[in-house]
Amino acid sequence: MSSFTNLMESRYGISVSDNQEALLVKDLRAIMEVNQVMNLTRITSEEEGMVLHLEDSLTGLPYVNEAPEGLYGDLGTGGGFPGIPLCIMTGRKTVLVDSVKKKVRALENVAADLDLSDLVEGYDGRIEDLALERKGEFSVVTARALSSLPSLMELACPLLCKQGRLVCYKAQPSHEELSMADDIEELLGLKKVIHDAFELSDGSQRCIIVYEKVSKPHIRLPRRVGLAQKTPLT
Ligand code: SAM
Repeated sequence: MSSFTNLMESRYGISVSDNQEALLVKDLRAIMEVNQVMNLTRITSEEEGMVLHLEDSLTGLPYVNEAPEGLYGDLGTGGGFPGIPLCIMTGRKTVLVDSVKKKVRALENVAADLDLSDLVEGYDGRIEDLALERKGEFSVVTARALSSLPSLMELACPLLCKQGRLVCYKAQPSHEELSMADDIEELLGLKKVIHDAFELSDGSQRCIIVYEKVSKPHIRLPRRVGLAQKTPLT
């Protein structure tokens, strides 16, 4: 067993097969290579990437697995984290969403090199526009380093099917952010079902907060492009 698979098993109870590990490492290396010509991630060493990209991305796996079967979307995917690692681990059809076209094209190329083209689709556009085109189609969406919780909830809500789940990767959300998120759950028809706090192997603090779509929102969504992030609902 490699040190990575050992760590994922002992620390998180996540089994990573040899084939999955080979693909995860290939993904990380490919992203690091693209990163030399295009700004995809601030992480430049493979050692750091193993923790802050691969280990961190995989911490969301059990929560994604608890969502209903079906389409998965990674919102604001940037360098494809956690989207590509979670696609490798779940085998779900995956949509990688980012408003920067060249990032999405680069991720599609990486996915092709990993033989994942049948599973991975890139969407180069705003999340709000995707919500107009594919309302209610997603069983689960993730978001890491994208926006505040209230903005994530609003952006994800129209994309999710009934009982679909939003899995938010956070460092340490403030009490204010958490309380603003609590205040808009009912308006959006979302319910917080999980809030777990833990440390990555390098000591970084992490939280995973999961919302389930329990009913239709009481407002029309998506609002105009940009509003969810500029003026979150209260
Ligand atoms: N999720 C990645 C990670 O954790 O490494 C990347 C995070 S990066 C800080 C945020 C990304 O979200 C950027 O690539 C940006 O282009 C994208 N983004 C921000 N707002 C967006 C929106 N409304 N629709 C689509 N993409 C968006």
